[in-house]
Amino acid sequence: MSSINPTSGAWLSAGLSHPSFLLSPFEFTAAMCRRNTIHNTSIPTFNSHGTDNPQNYQCPCYGRNTMIDQIGYHLTGCKIDGGAIRLHDNVIHTIVTLFRSIGLSVALEPLNMFSDLEPDDNRRPDILIRNPYDGGNQIIIDVSVTSFNSSARTNDNKPEQVVITREKQKFGKYGEAAKKNHIRFCPASFSTTGEMGPIIKNLFLEQIRLKLQLVDGEVKRSKVRKIMNHCVRHISAAINRSASRNIFFKATKMVNLARHTQQNFSSSTSCDFTSSSASSSPDDLIQQFELQIMNQDVIQN
Ligand SMILES: [Zn+2]
Repeated sequence: MSSINPTSGAWLSAGLSHPSFLLSPFEFTAAMCRRNTIHNTSIPTFNSHGTDNPQNYQCPCYGRNTMIDQIGYHLTGCKIDGGAIRLHDNVIHTIVTLFRSIGLSVALEPLNMFSDLEPDDNRRPDILIRNPYDGGNQIIIDVSVTSFNSSARTNDNKPEQVVITREKQKFGKYGEAAKKNHIRFCPASFSTTGEMGPIIKNLFLEQIRLKLQLVDGEVKRSKVRKIMNHCVRHISAAINRSASRNIFFKATKMVNLARHTQQNFSSSTSCDFTSSSASSSPDDLIQQFELQIMNQDVIQN
């Protein structure tokens, strides 16, 4: 279901050449389960025969209780605990790095973009390209990562529906203001499987071509394809790793909750001893985990 468009799953062919392409064993398992629609045994499930509390397996996002699926779809982009924001921010940072690598001057979350005409307008799009290679208007980009199976998807064979719908919504938000301020607006819409919206894809292609024309004097298709592949892989890897890490964080919390529930129901002291392995809180674990990743990055640089 996620394999029928050209950019999703690009992380699979990214190799190990860059530290951001590396996955921990848990992240790799989570990624594989999501991609192949198989149960991830690291995500705990409700045991109806024991003293388990079903609420530990539900998510209160969107104001209602959603049962958390064992494949990891819900945990990927869940808004609770900042998971969706982390995913969104990681994609923005990757795009900024990629545009900078082809020589563009890029600002992150520019201020006062629309205040020329309306001083109170303090909307902040995600990215500003100050010097696009066509020499035209400055470009603002707003990034969104949408679930591949959101309500906009009405046809199994049309995975692009979700990213195109989101592009339209973003035009509704920024299109008019951008036009009035003589800014070109490009929504950058992605699905949680790594599919890229046509507008951001074309912007990458256009800027790569113009850059090559400027530097080489000619545009070799093979070179464009090579640079584009590089960009697609980095974005896909960023989405995949953030999604897998979101699953890790939440699954860890769920495991601890389940242990805690069982611990409270148990009167036996020997049982307390075994469940004391869950003594570190989920937040401690997350911090330890981040530290580990940081150390790893430092070593690899
Ligand atoms: Zn949720």
